[in-house]
Amino acid sequence: MSIASKITRKIYKLTHPVEGEIWMLHRVVERQSEAEEQRELEVTPQWLEREINDYKQKGYRFVSLDELPCRGPWVVVTFDDGYRDNYTLAYPLLKRLGVPFTIYVTTGLIDNKMEAWWYAGQALGMSLDELRALAAEPLCTLGAHTVSHPKLNTLSREQQQAEIEGSKRKLEAMIGREVEHFSFPHGAHNRDTLDICNSLNLKTTVKSWGGPLRRGEWPNPLPRIDKQQL
Ligand SMILES: [Zn+2]
Repeated sequence: MSIASKITRKIYKLTHPVEGEIWMLHRVVERQSEAEEQRELEVTPQWLEREINDYKQKGYRFVSLDELPCRGPWVVVTFDDGYRDNYTLAYPLLKRLGVPFTIYVTTGLIDNKMEAWWYAGQALGMSLDELRALAAEPLCTLGAHTVSHPKLNTLSREQQQAEIEGSKRKLEAMIGREVEHFSFPHGAHNRDTLDICNSLNLKTTVKSWGGPLRRGEWPNPLPRIDKQQL
């Protein structure tokens, strides 16, 4: 990086202080897996509770996705994919702590119609009943995360439309409510992805990287922080 662009970046950071962080999580498990590519998707309830309490002590407020944009410092907790452990382990913990959270659902995982191939084909998705119980929980916001979890930027526009709109409609039919938020699998997206999301009037979209959100930044897709317990 040149000195000029370093200075430009420094000035940007000074005039755009950090407002908050959108955390990206996947699974909550009692014991983490041995394999690194699985372990990096897993946190324990104890770790998550410590992390939340740490941030609360530092003065962060835990807010729901629907409260954005708002004055910081805040944290939004999100989970991708729709694992059953989000219902059995994360939900009771976050309910006890009074922390709002969002789950982005890959609709194919519900009732395990599709297996989690990145977990050796294990049946890890939540059931339709569990999903509906979460839909009735005021602390929980549900968003869509495609039907079959592809890298959207590798698909044609028509295929992307089927994955994005298809999962939004399917999730809406499952929970009987409008779905206004969307997460790109693997963070992957291109111009078509953004156009389609715009045309569906999605309130927010998120990617899998980008760090904290700074003042004046209200772009879609919103940046997230990959929270890992390594
Ligand atoms: Zn995902």
